[in-house]
Amino acid sequence: MKTLKIAIQKSGRLNDKSVELLKNCGLNFDNYKSSLISPVSNFPLEILFLRDDDIPEYVQDGIADIGLVGENVIAETKVDVAYLQRLGFGKCNLKIAIPNQSSIQELADLNGKAIATSYPVILEKFLSENNITSDIKMISGSVEISPGLGLSDAIFDIVSTGGTLRSNGLKPFIDVMSSEAILIGRKGEENNPLIQELIQRIQSVLRAKE
Ligand code: ATP
Ligand code: ZN
Repeated sequence: MKTLKIAIQKSGRLNDKSVELLKNCGLNFDNYKSSLISPVSNFPLEILFLRDDDIPEYVQDGIADIGLVGENVIAETKVDVAYLQRLGFGKCNLKIAIPNQSSIQELADLNGKAIATSYPVILEKFLSENNITSDIKMISGSVEISPGLGLSDAIFDIVSTGGTLRSNGLKPFIDVMSSEAILIGRKGEENNPLIQELIQRIQSVLRAKE
């Protein structure tokens, strides 16, 4: 049977848990930080280590058969992939936050305001669903400092504990999306027996954790 390829994050918040999950599934592989592909010795599978942002695309294009990535990344890249299994880690929330002293009080107050974010696609979808037109400022990082610098009136970003918001004089305003890591695959390939076998193993690992 053809060897499967699974894409996981090379380094970052999802890497450790992704490697741990695959090891707990009984898969034997070397976790070389320097190599981008690791063969699994006891299952017809190769592991590709990639930037998380690239994973949905790789799966959609069939370079990888399956992938392990945050729902937020899938939503942001607009790809059309199959959700195979929620994984229960990498949990986070995407929120709109505003300065503590802001005059913004309700959703409609965001009309005409500038919102800085690294997630323009998710934000735009949320705003248009709510008939709000804002000026979305795309920035790739350190979004929290933008209101203080006068670049924006609000931000839209991943919030976990809220500590970064607080230390930048911001407060959560609206929850837009919650996210966790999920296993994705190409549409129409869900019944591949190797993919099914992996899903079974992942489900028993998750059950054992409950
Ligand atoms: P890469 O170098 O692979 O592009 P990255 O810097 O974009 O990595 P990370 O910060 O490692 O991404 O986050 C990976 C994923 O972890 C996020 O897309 C999100 O789904 C999840 N996540 C969970 N908690 C957080 C958090 N507090 N901040 C950011 N991401 C989080
Ligand atoms: Zn990334």
